Amino acid sequence: MLAAALLPLLAAQSPPVKVLISVDMEGVAGLTHDDQVNPKGPDYAIGRRLMVGEANAAIRGAALGGATEVLVVDAHWSQVNLVPDELLDSVAVPREGKEVSVPVSLFTGRPKPMGMMQGIDASFSAAVFVAYHPRAGTANGVLDHTWSTESIADVVVNGKSFGECGLNAALAGEFGVPVVFLSGDRAACEEARDLLGGIETVAVKEGIGRNAARTMLPGEARRAIEAGVKRGVERRREMRPLKVEGPVRLSVRFRNAGQAFLASQVPGARLTGPEEVSAQAPTFLEAWRFFYAF
Ligand SMILES: [Zn+2]
Repeated sequence: MLAAALLPLLAAQSPPVKVLISVDMEGVAGLTHDDQVNPKGPDYAIGRRLMVGEANAAIRGAALGGATEVLVVDAHWSQVNLVPDELLDSVAVPREGKEVSVPVSLFTGRPKPMGMMQGIDASFSAAVFVAYHPRAGTANGVLDHTWSTESIADVVVNGKSFGECGLNAALAGEFGVPVVFLSGDRAACEEARDLLGGIETVAVKEGIGRNAARTMLPGEARRAIEAGVKRGVERRREMRPLKVEGPVRLSVRFRNAGQAFLASQVPGARLTGPEEVSAQAPTFLEAWRFFYAF
């Protein structure tokens, strides 16, 4: 009887709003040099401190925008950059006349089969990309690369060049989850809008070449990210997931022929140029597994 009496109450409750925040480092305000983002670099401690500041701003923004639960994914290099006790573990926000606590959890370390998007599934309402960088070969793109500066020159999915924003947005799209926000340098924001349409973006710096930029200072960048993520999460129903239609042809152009030869040994993959390996799969999720194996 009690359970039956509770049913209408439960039905009246708003559904959960889970938000995944994937945090990279090259697109953090103030960072322009490999020494600041390479864990072995002399200025990595600075990069790390600024990264967690932007991650916390995004967490606050997601909670203020309506998230009921936040999952943060450490998405840079070794993927152990965010020091857990420096990350907000919950955010108190006013909601429907009372204060509620929005819990936060963290995916850290690697390898993770879904990489920078580990944990994504159809239960999420929105994905948020913080401190992303432009794809390899972008003019005036601060610290531009796609996955690995040393080994990958380009990734092409069904004829379109995809950087990390595209690959990760397509992974979210496989589960019907839209990307609602991206921050990074100006080139990364342009790349995201070109691919994803009218998502919220915050350009925290503008590159001159690969290793110099005019940049927001951290306080301003964090305020802008918090406000942008809030707007993005609020507007989540307007955003369309990026759906890559199958069959999916994925090609990777490597930096040298030796790397391509090794990748071509993955079953189902073949050399399609001296430095290029391609694979075909029925869905993007399966094509992604080829990429991860490469
Ligand atoms: Zn990175």
